[in-house]
Amino acid sequence: MKLFARLFPALAFVAASPAPAPSAPPRGFFTESVAAQQKVEREFRALPDPAVARDTMRRLAAAPHHLGSPEGGKNAEWILARFREWGLDAHIETFEVLFPTPKERVVELVEPVKFRAALAETTLKEDPTSGQTAQQLPTFNAYSTDGEATAPLVYVNYGMPDDYEQLERLGVDVKGKIVIARYGGGWRGIKPKVAGEKGALGCLIYSDPRDDGYFEGEVYPAGPFRPEQGVQRGSVADMPTYSGDPLTPGIGATHDAKRLDRKDAQTITKIPVLPISYADAKPLLAALEGPVAPEAWRGALPITYRVGPGPAKVHLKLVFDWKLVPARDVVAKIEGSVWPDEWVIRGNHHDAWVNGAEDPISGLVALLEEARAMGALVERGWRPRRTIVFCAWDGEEEGLLGSTEWVETHAAELTAKAVAYLNTDGNGRGFLNANGSQALEPVVAGSSAEVEDPEKKISVLARARLKKISDAEKPEDRQEARERAGLRLEALGSGSDFTPFLQHLGIASLNLGFGGEDNGGIYHSIYDDFTWYSRFADTDFTYARALAQAGGTMTLRLANADILPFDFTFAAEAIAKYVKEVSELADTKRKDAEEKNRRIEENLPWAVADPRKPFVAPKADAPVPHFDLAPLLNASDALTAAAAAYSRAFDAAFQPDAARPSAEKLAALNAALRGFERSLTSEAGLPGRPWYKHFIYAPGAYTGYAVKTLPAVREALDQKRWGEVNAEAAQTGAVIQKAAEQVRTATKLLTGP
Ligand SMILES: [Zn+2]
Repeated sequence: MKLFARLFPALAFVAASPAPAPSAPPRGFFTESVAAQQKVEREFRALPDPAVARDTMRRLAAAPHHLGSPEGGKNAEWILARFREWGLDAHIETFEVLFPTPKERVVELVEPVKFRAALAETTLKEDPTSGQTAQQLPTFNAYSTDGEATAPLVYVNYGMPDDYEQLERLGVDVKGKIVIARYGGGWRGIKPKVAGEKGALGCLIYSDPRDDGYFEGEVYPAGPFRPEQGVQRGSVADMPTYSGDPLTPGIGATHDAKRLDRKDAQTITKIPVLPISYADAKPLLAALEGPVAPEAWRGALPITYRVGPGPAKVHLKLVFDWKLVPARDVVAKIEGSVWPDEWVIRGNHHDAWVNGAEDPISGLVALLEEARAMGALVERGWRPRRTIVFCAWDGEEEGLLGSTEWVETHAAELTAKAVAYLNTDGNGRGFLNANGSQALEPVVAGSSAEVEDPEKKISVLARARLKKISDAEKPEDRQEARERAGLRLEALGSGSDFTPFLQHLGIASLNLGFGGEDNGGIYHSIYDDFTWYSRFADTDFTYARALAQAGGTMTLRLANADILPFDFTFAAEAIAKYVKEVSELADTKRKDAEEKNRRIEENLPWAVADPRKPFVAPKADAPVPHFDLAPLLNASDALTAAAAAYSRAFDAAFQPDAARPSAEKLAALNAALRGFERSLTSEAGLPGRPWYKHFIYAPGAYTGYAVKTLPAVREALDQKRWGEVNAEAAQTGAVIQKAAEQVRTATKLLTGP
């Protein structure tokens, strides 16, 4: 035996043992609570089972189960029965929501040649559920308005605002035309919104093979990518205005709710819009003439991409059945033994566009494995200290209906009780993606350090960190990733059920899932099913287990910690970064306008243009003023200082000789900590969209999924509303000052008498 081992026999045993290194104590647990927490976590992580996850997916994705469908209802009942079988206190809460489905869909090329689009996906003999045609929803976009138009076609690339600036330079106007946009570049709902604002009469959206078809890889069924008849369904509601049922903004869509008239619902599109396959898009695009599309606009179809307008002329007709259907949320609770009125909420949706193996069942099976495992622990006599709530939402695909209506209905109770919301919309193979409220970074890092990556047998934290270092484009990003113990959490925009929790109520939220090694092109098509998933995604369901282990460990830490494990230094760091970005954005806007106007003075655009091509002289921009962003900088500094002071107090509270706070004091402290995210909201909401109350994160009004941080200020800059920038900076600064005050309150509770 070596000297070291004689002096430290226990350590020598650890070093020689193949068992993993002892875990770091979880954040927020007093010494006397650590062992029990580590024990329950270990027991918990042994329980999720890939074979059960596989069976659950096979069951829940066996048939099309969209909102309002018989199979969707049966799935909700099945989930309810499992929760009850596992000993959870579960029920179904039903709302009545607007869900239009198509009665008539026509897309035809009427000039210069005739062609009628099939608007149907092909049944494949290799994929048994692709043949469930009687139960499948047709291919359509939810909350398109009814409408009919016959007009020349224009290709608008992704149909984002920048694309229209390009079109203007090409001398092409979409007024009175039908536009065809490809999927990608931003959220699909932005495409008809912008097209409508520009005067288009209709909008088609197709999946270009360059983006998720044969350009990317072998198509289904030979490979995972989108086949020529594959269509991406999806909602086109104007979700950046509000999510949920279009008829009941801000209130729960209960049976007796006061509903808007459909014509007054802001989130229904102004022009008809329909998604099509690349097989249906190709003849339309091939019939376009006019300017050749800019290089970045060209897809992978074997044609010369042209912009139009015409001579291709398209007839588009859409008629919907505007009915109310039940949305069934399944909600299950494990009541907390010490703080039953503090809730940790774990959710994901159960509805799909069709069979939805990947979206959403792969994320839901992880949640269900967590619930099954925690049920087993309860049976052994364990109870969480806070209440854990498991939710399976309906109607996510149409616009986060089930989660939004539930959040709106229970807003007061959630505001008082919710600690955090954890969402897992979709899971695959590869690297842990975790994003959301930055104060939760240590919870994410500590928990994911305890979970083994099924492929590389290192922790999922270690693998995700190394991936971030590998992907860093700039040396400073690489250095930052190396120096960071955990994973930087990126801000959440929208696209899943965290939105009403985070951005409407101000509840700290996370979205989790594995990915990066499971690319494909079946999103929202009939091919997102068990056959595809078990061939191309998490084929042995070991990542379903890893996601359950990671999500469940985070849930357990939040549910059991003596002091809620928020670390505001990470929130302060993120906000400081956003403030810096916004001031750089203001400078960039100013320099861009100066450069553009200088070029116009130099006659540069005219001189370099090809005289045989159409030329539109650009208009000079108004000069961009200087802004007063001091309120943002001051507030950000105040938050940074408050967070540092809280951190010192927090560390002191966990010193071995530190006195324990009284139960009363602990309750007040945890209430103050829960209130931090809430303090980043303002009741008045964001300019032009008061449903969104969070002043740090919002989905972009013209990006949809992608986040706009400090949205009130950033969007005033993006939309050139120069006169409003100072007022928005002052208001956002006031919100951040409020958050700093919240942290100071927590610090006083931790250090005071
Ligand atoms: Zn989903």
